[in-house]
Amino acid sequence: MKRSFDADRREALKKLAVGGTLAFGGSLPAAETKLSMPSSKKRARIVIAGGGTAGMAVASRIRRAAPNAEIVLISPNDMHLYQPGQVFAAVGLYRDSDNVQPTPSILPDGVRWLKESVLFFDPESSSLKCDRSGKIVYDFLIVALGCEYDYEAIDGLGISAIGRNSIASLYLNDTVKGSAKGSEITRKWFGDIRESADKGSVKVLLSDPATPVKGEGVSLDILFLCNDMLKGRGPRKGADIHSKVKFTLAKGSDTLIGCRGYDKALKKRVAAENNFSTLFSHELQSVDVDRKVATFSAGGVRKEVSYDFLHVTPPMRAPDALRDSPLAAYEGEHTGWFDGDERTLRHKTYPNVFGIGDILGRRSGMSGAAARDQAIVMQDNIAAALEDKPLPAKYLGYTAVPVRTRFGREILAEYDRNGFDPTFPLDPTEPRWIWWEMDLHLMRWVYFNLIMRGMM
Ligand SMILES: Cc1cc2nc3c(=O)[nH]c(=O)nc-3n(C[C@H](O)[C@H](O)[C@H](O)COP(=O)(O)OP(=O)(O)OC[C@H]3O[C@@H](n4cnc5c(N)ncnc54)[C@H](O)[C@@H]3O)c2cc1C
Repeated sequence: MKRSFDADRREALKKLAVGGTLAFGGSLPAAETKLSMPSSKKRARIVIAGGGTAGMAVASRIRRAAPNAEIVLISPNDMHLYQPGQVFAAVGLYRDSDNVQPTPSILPDGVRWLKESVLFFDPESSSLKCDRSGKIVYDFLIVALGCEYDYEAIDGLGISAIGRNSIASLYLNDTVKGSAKGSEITRKWFGDIRESADKGSVKVLLSDPATPVKGEGVSLDILFLCNDMLKGRGPRKGADIHSKVKFTLAKGSDTLIGCRGYDKALKKRVAAENNFSTLFSHELQSVDVDRKVATFSAGGVRKEVSYDFLHVTPPMRAPDALRDSPLAAYEGEHTGWFDGDERTLRHKTYPNVFGIGDILGRRSGMSGAAARDQAIVMQDNIAAALEDKPLPAKYLGYTAVPVRTRFGREILAEYDRNGFDPTFPLDPTEPRWIWWEMDLHLMRWVYFNLIMRGMM
């Protein structure tokens, strides 16, 4: 019986892998595009600013869409970090070094890499300034700078507080160095919680900001997986001591995830654990690290919550180079983020400028899965723009958020602006072993070998 189950499992995984259908998004693009793989023979200089998930995924696609164009990618990082792998590294299932590859090894042929940073954009003169080469002019620009963390926005915190005084932040990474200290810090934090729970009761507080965040499911992963470890599961094993730990998840927003159907299902799942509680619309303002007290603003009212252990998801914002430039929205919901049309991804004021990835600052959709979908749209739209034609492709808001509900089980929350958008005809709110196995064993390979090469 066992053998046939394993065989079925392997067979199913193989089929899914071959179909190229993975947790970064389905096998078929959700974007509204004819997938005609159009290309333009025009000569032009296309500059891509940022060489993370979005920049790399789009570079190889643009290479194909514009074979005669000069394509320049500007990014300071020697190493490329697979950020989703930080979660598995934190729980001890990956080594940190497994999540990085040298930038040259994934740089598409025919793309020139400038290892430097953009200091500012001057779209009026179709140029930008870099820290080493100075002014660079372009015919088309694709902005893919990602987002940065703003730990300093929380009084009493700052990056230096992470990893000390029982405070962790799995997010902490440096996309320029390709390092992710947050995983190591959180790994130790999990161990410290278990050690404390062995001695008595423990209060664990997790906070999520009110800003858009990348990796929407990360706090839920920490909540569920930490609890599961305390139940004695996961690589460390041990006695079930979870009832000694009370978890509070404080969200800056009023949802656990930005799609109503998944949110409802996840709220039910969280409520079912009797050592979990939630606070919604609570925005972390300050932390008193000595007293171990976090102060939130909740509907304008100050509220103090004491903790023994704190996990912080930092507020996120666009990098300065974008925020201080004419390319940023200066009013409305997306203030400070790239001011683009959310469907065509073209800048609202400068038609030769496009934006992709986290820089769009969408509350739902700061994910590698979204960036991959947007790269498909960008391929068609850049080819059309080169030919001075109307833009044919539209991004419909697709994103995929893995939520690890326990070791060996995962919900793959795929959705777009209209709600559920699952690739498979299965109840999408159910945690399944198949998503966990694919995520753990296949996804990183697919990321470096297919998505980065614009092959899915
Ligand atoms: C812990 C964690 C878990 C996650 N889990 C998932 C998941 O399971 N599934 C999923 O789909 N997504 C997940 N994500 C989100 C995903 O990693 C990001 O949404 C994705 O990397 C966004 O791609 P990007 O290119 O916009 O930004 P990034 O990949 O962050 O790349 C930005 C790039 O811009 C460069 N850059 C920055 N400033 C400048 C400048 N001034 N000049 C030039 N270059 C610059 C950086 O060096 C970097 O190379 C997770 C993220 C984290 C942190």
